[in-house]
Amino acid sequence: MSRLVVLAGPTAVGKGTVVRALREIEPTLYLSVSATTRPPRPGEVDGVHYHFIDRDDFDRRIEAGEFLEWATVHGTNKYGTLRGPVDERLSRGEPVLLEIDLQGARQVKETMPDAHFVFLAPPSWDELVNRLVGRGTEDEAERERRLATAREELAAEGWFDQVIVNDTVERAARELSGVLHESR
Ligand code: 5GP
Repeated sequence: MSRLVVLAGPTAVGKGTVVRALREIEPTLYLSVSATTRPPRPGEVDGVHYHFIDRDDFDRRIEAGEFLEWATVHGTNKYGTLRGPVDERLSRGEPVLLEIDLQGARQVKETMPDAHFVFLAPPSWDELVNRLVGRGTEDEAERERRLATAREELAAEGWFDQVIVNDTVERAARELSGVLHESR
């Protein structure tokens, strides 16, 4: 059985950016593509960044047991990891990376306790706020909601197997790459 690595961390810590940098280092690495009810942001492609599906479809898949984990994130949209593609890769002996929120990470721990849980931490809280405001993709109300979630998420750091500080994107991506290839 090969490695399932779960990457979580507070909103706007730069998970997406670190994962993109990881992709450059490891072009063949399988990154799970989540399903979400959130509408696409400009530039996001269906089936690449997410599977963008509607609420009815999402609920049907919950009922059908298709999700390894799923959660309502920031109190609004549902996000979930489809079980099939993950199991397929792991059974072929390939490492898999899930980039999910904390609620999802807790569910994976229940069903796959041998997975390796990595927390991506900001260098500081102020830096996290700067990144969230700087991204400019959310309105004021959404930013507040996400900051509230981030405060709770930061408090969960101790639960993880490992913490990687996102001081520079390249360094954090290299550290994550190392984690994916460590033997269990
Ligand atoms: P965004 O809307 O910015 O793409 O993502 C919002 C949050 O949803 C992020 O914290 C991200 O980690 C989380 N997320 C993305 N995909 C999944 C998933 O499949 N499951 C869970 N539980 N959270 C996810």
